[in-house]
Amino acid sequence: MPLSDAGTIHIVGAGLAGLAAAERLSRSHWDVAVHEATAVAGGRCRSYHDQSTGMVIDNGTHLLLSGNHAAISFTEAIGSRSGLRGPDEAQFAFVDAVTGEQWTLRFGDSRFPWWVFDKDRRVPQTAVVDYLPLARLAWATADKPIGDIMKCGGPIYDRFVGPLLLAALNIAPQEGSAKLAGAVVRETLALGGQACRPLLAYEGLGSVFVEPAIAHLRGRGVTISFKDELIELLFSNGRVTQMKFARQTVNLGENDGVILAVPPYVATNFVPTLTVPSSFRGIVNAHFRIDPPSHLPPMLGVINGTCEWIFPLPGRISATISDGGRLFDMPRTELAQIIWNDIAKVAGLPSTLPPWQIVRERRATFAATPEQNTRRPSAKTAWNNLFLAGDWTQTGLPATIEGAVRSGYRAADLVKHRLRAAA
Ligand SMILES: Cc1cc2nc3c(=O)[nH]c(=O)nc-3n(C[C@H](O)[C@H](O)[C@H](O)COP(=O)(O)OP(=O)(O)OC[C@H]3O[C@@H](n4cnc5c(N)ncnc54)[C@H](O)[C@@H]3O)c2cc1C
Repeated sequence: MPLSDAGTIHIVGAGLAGLAAAERLSRSHWDVAVHEATAVAGGRCRSYHDQSTGMVIDNGTHLLLSGNHAAISFTEAIGSRSGLRGPDEAQFAFVDAVTGEQWTLRFGDSRFPWWVFDKDRRVPQTAVVDYLPLARLAWATADKPIGDIMKCGGPIYDRFVGPLLLAALNIAPQEGSAKLAGAVVRETLALGGQACRPLLAYEGLGSVFVEPAIAHLRGRGVTISFKDELIELLFSNGRVTQMKFARQTVNLGENDGVILAVPPYVATNFVPTLTVPSSFRGIVNAHFRIDPPSHLPPMLGVINGTCEWIFPLPGRISATISDGGRLFDMPRTELAQIIWNDIAKVAGLPSTLPPWQIVRERRATFAATPEQNTRRPSAKTAWNNLFLAGDWTQTGLPATIEGAVRSGYRAADLVKHRLRAAA
């Protein structure tokens, strides 16, 4: 391991938070070493080759919006921005799986949500005043369940706000945190179409967020070790002094720092008295090997179905169900058929199952309730050279790529500042 006079910053965990921290620090004069427990990087945002379908699939189709500036700047830094694509204008198409009714919200390309004032672009059967609860949410002062701030029902909720908040928070919106929902509204919807253009990694998450990051970091001299699981941190005099990994022990000098970018339930094993989110929500993704019909929009929200979002991707159709815990114990083939039935119906395809794969992530995100939100720790710890990163730290956002990247950047900035001050 290269140990320069400037010192080494050790980053534990090569999810997006860890990779973002490494990217920012790779531009500094510190040596950077990333330690990842598994054989691959990406954590909860990864692609892999699935043997049963013969396809490279994502653990879950990840949606970004053009207002996610940190995530976008991360892809710019690692040279993969062009892999994130979407419609030229912010558009969201929906279909009602029961009635077959379809509608498309067209947000336009301005920096103000003018679309709300245009009856042909907003949700059918809604008026301008129906959108006022979104403003209440955006500027909510105390954190409460969303259900305490706005009515979780009616046309605008059922046809737009509910599906949007469910996807953004990964929790039934009525119990979700108004503060976290408000941050999403302020950073996207309130900024008009310019901040709401959907962006997807059409060729897979790995090719946009992970492989280019690894190549970029290695090119800058960052050491990345896989199957390098942290087992214990040892502390002395207010600092981390030793890191015990499964296969090595690293002693830390005065100029060395640590960024812990592991999931919250792992971080508590290492950091005494750390309070972290303790409740989680799952996400179900289904991938079907079939060429999507050309008439499907780039993404399709489904109301009154099991499936919530349909993504036509090259050579496959993928579907996402947020807060999908109720589906985790259902037999896999039965679940695949139920989801496919929704897709077949709205896309006009036969009901015979194409080759498929189901991915169920039980702890996809922390539960974005007001109570769990208070359990998120700051990036700073009581130890002088130890910082935290991860979508579960205090980012002010729900658990998203944007939050993970911002947390990595923040931890990197803090460690630089602290070590520079100590020098
Ligand atoms: C199915 C699914 C769908 C999602 N959809 C979206 C979406 O549409 N839009 C969006 O913005 N976000 C989405 N997310 C959320 C997004 O994936 C996460 O917010 C983000 O990937 C979290 O990154 P992270 O680095 O904070 O954590 P993680 O990805 O969990 O990274 C932690 C890393 O630490 C490693 N590690 C653990 N223990 C150790 C140890 N002891 N030693 C060393 N390494 C260790 C892990 O292996 C992992 O690589 C989704 C998540 C899932 C699961």
